[in-house]
Amino acid sequence: MDFGLSDQQRELQDAARKFARAELPDLARELERKDEPVPHDVLRRYGELGFLGINLPEQYGGLGLSHLDALLVLEEFAQISVAVAFPVFEALTGPVRTVEHFGSDALKAKILPEVIRGEKIVAVAMSEPDAGTALTDLTTSAVMDGDEIVLNGRKRWSSGAGHSEYYITYCRFDDQPGAKGIGAVLVEKDDAGVSFGKREELMGFRGIPSADIFLDDVRVPKGNMIIGAGGFGQLMSAFGLERCGNATMGLGVAAAALEDALAYTQERQAFGKPIVDFQAVQIKLAEMAMKVDAARLLIWRAAASAKDGLPTVYESSLAKCFSNEIVREVTQLGVQVMGGYGYSKDYPMEQRLRDGFAWGIAGGTTDVQKTNITSAMIGRRFNQRA
Ligand SMILES: Cc1cc2nc3c(=O)[nH]c(=O)nc-3n(C[C@H](O)[C@H](O)[C@H](O)COP(=O)(O)OP(=O)(O)OC[C@H]3O[C@@H](n4cnc5c(N)ncnc54)[C@H](O)[C@@H]3O)c2cc1C
Repeated sequence: MDFGLSDQQRELQDAARKFARAELPDLARELERKDEPVPHDVLRRYGELGFLGINLPEQYGGLGLSHLDALLVLEEFAQISVAVAFPVFEALTGPVRTVEHFGSDALKAKILPEVIRGEKIVAVAMSEPDAGTALTDLTTSAVMDGDEIVLNGRKRWSSGAGHSEYYITYCRFDDQPGAKGIGAVLVEKDDAGVSFGKREELMGFRGIPSADIFLDDVRVPKGNMIIGAGGFGQLMSAFGLERCGNATMGLGVAAAALEDALAYTQERQAFGKPIVDFQAVQIKLAEMAMKVDAARLLIWRAAASAKDGLPTVYESSLAKCFSNEIVREVTQLGVQVMGGYGYSKDYPMEQRLRDGFAWGIAGGTTDVQKTNITSAMIGRRFNQRA
């Protein structure tokens, strides 16, 4: 067993770190202040540098590297802020992968190169006002009509709503209750009948737009079908990589909080000496490091053992859930060791606390991950409805 990265992986990590630390901190502050997403020219630059195609196939312009390579890059971006990292998360581990796994060759040939070049973003629209954890309650309907699919419904919490060009829209193809009738269709922002609600104000996640999506008799070509009725299980099992991406976003936030706390506590003086000389501060820093390192190892294990395939439900849920919990604890400790400055908007720590909290809700709550973990351990699903 080797916990070290290869020379090639270190070079990739260094390249992402250099770029992120040289070019993104000012942008991250601006996105936080203005609550705006990564501008298109910067997104194209991500694309030119290859960051949006690390683990996507070479035939579409990606680099064809491993999922672990992709997560190494993603963590470097997430250490700057979740807003600057979000398009990288979406491309390398998020909804684009649904197109890659289940889309037709024509859809892949259209969408993947655009995403890899940084021209377009794919978002996911699963949740609805009355279907979150109970996603199989979703009611957005998809009806086949000749060569078209007609969609009606309302989506909620889609990250990127109103900004992203494409939406992987989970919908119900027939009246069968629960998971059986559910599949997914690609909807475009400019399709007739698509409109967006007011911009949501969230606790964190500034720079990542969120809004309701209204679908009123939206007609898309039959070729936009990603997966039809009965595909819900496959969509969920393909979520393993997304869980690792979600976990890595939290890890990046936590690792950055630790780095800031280490620097601050060596500089800040109290009682005539640096506060790191107080044992209570030392213990907090050690606890932060234990949590960050353990999260990173769980994520790397899930990605490394998946090789070219998808991380398992067990390993990816464990990594996600652990990362979701520790980022909340680590950023809280970060605020605490920085005292009043940790709570001030003049320093990035309070933003890390707000941004870090979200990951244990987005992509499935921590309690649901725990149900998945136990379910994987005993080898059967638990019926939440019975
Ligand atoms: C920042 C952010 C970004 C998001 N981005 C997206 C996105 O891009 N696309 C998208 O489609 N959605 C997105 N979501 C929505 C997210 O997936 C849902 O919020 C999440 O699945 C929880 O659903 P809910 O909010 O309806 O909560 P509910 O399902 O109402 O859950 C409320 C509480 O009840 C608990 N609970 C519910 N059922 C059970 C159960 N069976 N066992 C144990 N506990 C249970 C939950 O764990 C939770 O604590 C995002 C959410 C956030 C906060």
